[in-house]
Amino acid sequence: MRAIRRFIVQPVLPEPLRPLAELARNLRWSWHEPTREVFRAVDPDLWAAVGSDPLKLLSQVSPERLDTLAGDRRFVRNLEIVREDLHDYLTGDRWYQAFAAGHAEAPAAIGYFSAEFGISKVLPQYSGGLGILAGDHLKAASDVGAPIVGVGLLYHHGYFIQSLNASGWQQERYPLLDPNELPVSLLHDDAGAVVIEVEIRGVLTKAQVWVAQVGRVPLLLLDTNLEDNPERERLITDKLYGGGSSHRLAQEVLLGVGGVRAIRAYCRITGHAAPEVFHANEGHAVFLGLERIREFMTTGDDFDAAVEKSRAGMLFTTHTPVPAGIDRFSKDQVREQFQSFAPLPIDRIIELGAETYPGGDPNVYNMAVVGLRLGQRANGVSKLHGEVSRQMFQGLWPGFDSSEVPITSVTNGVHARTWVHPELREVLESPLETDENVVDGWDWKALDRIDDTTVWTLKRQMRGQMIIMARERLAKSAAARGMNADWVATALNPHTLTIGFARRGASYKRLTLMLSQPDRLKALLNHPTTPIQIVIAGKAHPADDIGKGLIQQMVQFSDSEDVRGKLVFLPDYDMSLARPLYPGCDVWLNNPLRPMEACGTSGMKAAINGAFNLSIRDGWWDEWYDSAFGWAIPSAETIGNQAERDAAEAESLYEIIEREIIPMFYTRDANGVPAEWVKMMRATIAGLGPKVMATRMVRDYVEQLYAPAAAAAVKVLADDTAAQLAQWKTKVRAAWPGVVVTRIESHLPDIVEVGSTNEFDAWVRLNGLDACDVAVELVSGEVDASDELRNVRITRFERPGETGEDGAVLFRVRATSQTPGLVGYTVRVVPSHPLLASRSEMGLAAVAAL
Ligand SMILES: *Cc1c(COP(=O)(O)O)cnc(C)c1O
Repeated sequence: MRAIRRFIVQPVLPEPLRPLAELARNLRWSWHEPTREVFRAVDPDLWAAVGSDPLKLLSQVSPERLDTLAGDRRFVRNLEIVREDLHDYLTGDRWYQAFAAGHAEAPAAIGYFSAEFGISKVLPQYSGGLGILAGDHLKAASDVGAPIVGVGLLYHHGYFIQSLNASGWQQERYPLLDPNELPVSLLHDDAGAVVIEVEIRGVLTKAQVWVAQVGRVPLLLLDTNLEDNPERERLITDKLYGGGSSHRLAQEVLLGVGGVRAIRAYCRITGHAAPEVFHANEGHAVFLGLERIREFMTTGDDFDAAVEKSRAGMLFTTHTPVPAGIDRFSKDQVREQFQSFAPLPIDRIIELGAETYPGGDPNVYNMAVVGLRLGQRANGVSKLHGEVSRQMFQGLWPGFDSSEVPITSVTNGVHARTWVHPELREVLESPLETDENVVDGWDWKALDRIDDTTVWTLKRQMRGQMIIMARERLAKSAAARGMNADWVATALNPHTLTIGFARRGASYKRLTLMLSQPDRLKALLNHPTTPIQIVIAGKAHPADDIGKGLIQQMVQFSDSEDVRGKLVFLPDYDMSLARPLYPGCDVWLNNPLRPMEACGTSGMKAAINGAFNLSIRDGWWDEWYDSAFGWAIPSAETIGNQAERDAAEAESLYEIIEREIIPMFYTRDANGVPAEWVKMMRATIAGLGPKVMATRMVRDYVEQLYAPAAAAAVKVLADDTAAQLAQWKTKVRAAWPGVVVTRIESHLPDIVEVGSTNEFDAWVRLNGLDACDVAVELVSGEVDASDELRNVRITRFERPGETGEDGAVLFRVRATSQTPGLVGYTVRVVPSHPLLASRSEMGLAAVAAL
């Protein structure tokens, strides 16, 4: 017989143990070692058996054990201390409070929307890097006290669990999660559970809201699995990235539109400050802008003014430099969805997603383009990715150099307390907040004070613990595949140079590049004195047969007799695999097709565990590569032929391993320590630690994007500023086709010397605009053979007041030549208004065509 409903009977905790329930409900336990120690002490065997899940632990621990603990004075006293520490953590002033004291514009709250969040393996609501990043963003925001409210969906099957069949083909399982067993609680008011309503595909769909507490940060997760909903609507939140495009669109409407409504309910009930800034983490979340426009229109604004109000406080982060990775729908589909999203005019909604640039598809609704139009601010996730994004979307800003495209970058980071191995963390964590070497409680130079042998022994322990985890997983996998598992007991060696490679099975990541010369690889794996071993993991998207094929190729290679136990594939890459994996590796390999890796964070997690990156200079590694931290595989981007490019890059990969990595690892001093290697471990942790921390990333977001966005929002929300700005933009757009540079006079001598100053006059027909509505700019820079300007420098013209006979207005500038060489220039007119965040914002430029 099947049960029709399930519920959990909570154990009654004896009074002195009540704080355990509170500790279990705040996910801070997942990165706070003293709290984990408390749970472990409740019942060490059970803690291991339930996979370090406090709620499971508390629901299964025996009443006798609880009674014993209630009488254990040491346990109870320690529990009190840890509970008090949590209270201090939740209430004390932190970096953000000091920042806000000096910056009136610091927002009172920020809504952070993401389709996935990777916080802990007990809340499996993520597929890969994007989700882990979002989880680390919330954790770091909590650490620095940034008032973020996270918004996502609660997927009843999460993302899939990966296993392999006998032939190495990926198998997917979607076990049902019961929210009652997850560390979340239903948002409710006095009348009961709060229900949000959103019209999705023409059906008024209800959603309840679960709240997970991530330290100081609440995370709201919407869930349509309600009996009141029709079957199809109940299934909207079934799986992460499952189903076809109609299903995905439904999820994204729920996330964006429903997410704003959930925040409103949350703030109403809890008294939490309303967000002034809304951050869409990737295109999945950008419909939040439509809901905010609707809110403003409902209180009296017209569409254009509402757009201005919503835009000023909205930030869009793009995460992919691969056009195929961008979320797109058909226009018809979106039109149908938002047909009755009153009072927004449907045609304006459709215009927002139109690919109005050369090569754009007229039938497509592009979510990144929506994000760029609805967010006054936008960013990529590493310097290189910012650059690539500016080029990729340059078509939306014709007349501007790609460097002027208003997409900036904030390089991703990782949450150190989640990702640094516990024993290494003991060394690196410092109680001295004020020491100059200490950043957010971490002393990244602490290894300098520890001798070589101790550092090396610690690394071997980390490798050994990873191997124990790997053998458990290999044994399970071999059994599931019906294979002999005798070899597993001796798989991997704690003394062998260990290379790690784990990531989603996206094809640009080139999982199988290392197999391009199989015999050469086998020789390295089987070397009698200086061998390497390789640990591999990764999931392919369920619909990606090419990715699954690559995994199968890798698994079949690892199955062969002469490789088995030396190159291993560990199924089901998730946080519980990842956390011990990075510390257990000596070298972290990454060989994407440059520049397709937007940032990549696994290499950062490896680095703060003393592993060196061996990577193509892509994403973050392009920015922070240094030979003291690892090796750069030369990227053969200039080779057009994919197979040749792969071969060239693979050749470099082998050479670096053979000539540099292996000799350094196996050159030992009298104590058996590779002194050069240990020195490089110290340099890597000290050099990269402070940079890759997620707290650094969150501070960057606050200072460079959240605070300016909040300031812009305050201005636009004042009185009828938004309406005036909207009217001004309409006027400028209407006049723009008639704005022309009619004449330029340069008073250049035959020979221009560096340092000389020259005068330029430009006559501009303003077509009814005022001179103060525009900026006239001298754009100068290096020129190539086709006269394309590069590395442009912009100098603004002044208006001396004269108007010519033809009605054109005179602008004049004096510019100094700064660098020798061939220089070109042009003159252009751009809109100018104090509320524009950049000169390129409107995508309008009248460039001289004389
Ligand atoms: C860090 C991490 C990722 C992302 O790694 P990339 O380097 O961005 O590919 C994916 N999955 C898990 C489980 C991770 O911990």
